[in-house]
Amino acid sequence: MPDFPPITEVREPSAAVLRDRDEAERPEREQRQVRPRTEGWQQKTDATGRPLLQFASPKRGKPPVHLADLSAEERAAKMKELGLPAFRAKQLTAHYFSHYTSDPAEMTDLPAAGREELVAGMLPPLLTEARRLTTDNGDTIKFLWRLHDGALVESVLMRYPERVTLCISSQAGCGMNCPFCATGQAGLTRNLSTGEIIDQIVRANRALANGELKNSPKERVTNIVFMGMGEPLANYKRVIDAVRIMTTPQPAGLGMSARHITVSTVGLVPAIHKLAEEKIPVTFALSLHAPDDQLRDELIPVNSRWKVDEALDAARAYFEATGRRVSIEYALIKDMNDHGWRADLLAEKLNERGRGWVHVNPIPLNPTPGSVWTASDPDVADEFVRRLIVAGVPTTLRDTRGKEIDGACGQLAAADAVSAS
Ligand code: SAH
Repeated sequence: MPDFPPITEVREPSAAVLRDRDEAERPEREQRQVRPRTEGWQQKTDATGRPLLQFASPKRGKPPVHLADLSAEERAAKMKELGLPAFRAKQLTAHYFSHYTSDPAEMTDLPAAGREELVAGMLPPLLTEARRLTTDNGDTIKFLWRLHDGALVESVLMRYPERVTLCISSQAGCGMNCPFCATGQAGLTRNLSTGEIIDQIVRANRALANGELKNSPKERVTNIVFMGMGEPLANYKRVIDAVRIMTTPQPAGLGMSARHITVSTVGLVPAIHKLAEEKIPVTFALSLHAPDDQLRDELIPVNSRWKVDEALDAARAYFEATGRRVSIEYALIKDMNDHGWRADLLAEKLNERGRGWVHVNPIPLNPTPGSVWTASDPDVADEFVRRLIVAGVPTTLRDTRGKEIDGACGQLAAADAVSAS
């Protein structure tokens, strides 16, 4: 069964969605066109007045080097440097990737003398829990982590009937400046290290092992979505190194299935092609949000570099290289991108690139605090979905998880920054 990612859950379409109504009976609704604009905050711009795009990580103190940042050879070499046998690295690796611990007290197979120093050197603390929020029914936990330099990132752990999904961050902040996204508004603080990406999973696995996610169907995280903070393809090398650790069997890695890992991007076309060449069949998601350049230029500023058609061509090429059906993410924003003609145009653009290669995931916008934009009305969302389905494009309307805990899209870090200021 294809496992469609997110952070989100399926909302049952109303019966009307699937009924192919007679077009003649349904006069085209006059719909307003709201243009993206920010209110209450200013979108940063570059020298030419365009929304600022930050691809390079600002220079900041590097996080401590962690075992997860090193290759197997580098880990062994480090042991040699310390005058220890190479198998000590394997023992540490097993503690971390299989038992989810960095606590020397639990590592009784290591000699007591020098154990603390060895563990402190190889498994330095990367994430400090700054705050945790849990939904009333206990199916979602949102972690806010403080990094060594005070930067904040978050991950969200979600229980589903047969899987446990963790939404992780790849950067502190984000440089892509999408005006509807809570993370985008703050700009890019820095790239996360591979260790900082992996530690989000290890810490979630630890929480699961401790029974902290109520009624979990699994003992460890089964699915990863790179849909927390950051643009994963702008932190390419560290993200790929992290994915390789995730898919390496335990105890050398986390033993996850590549198809259960979703990499989501605004559409950095050259990086999408590179990802296709890695031959790791991760699930690929493109955050499209508009099928026409006129609107997408404003909604996703990186569209000034790579247009809708180029992003869709790259998504299609990803499917061809990997055989993995790709996902199109589409946040439905009232009167901005939810027009029937846009659903038709999207279907047309997808179908002209073939059939059976793509799945669309519309999701009602989760308004950021203070935002003037709102989610589409349910009947408009249903109509949007209906048009895609009638055109033969598999489409699933989703709903955000954990709204009560600012469950989505950088909102917890944003709230914390506000409350801290
Ligand atoms: N930078 C990557 C991954 C992080 S965002 C990307 O853009 O794909 C993960 C998803 O959440 C993206 O599809 C993004 O567009 C969407 N998103 C951001 N803000 C949102 C909001 N307020 N409501 C609904 N979805 C949102």
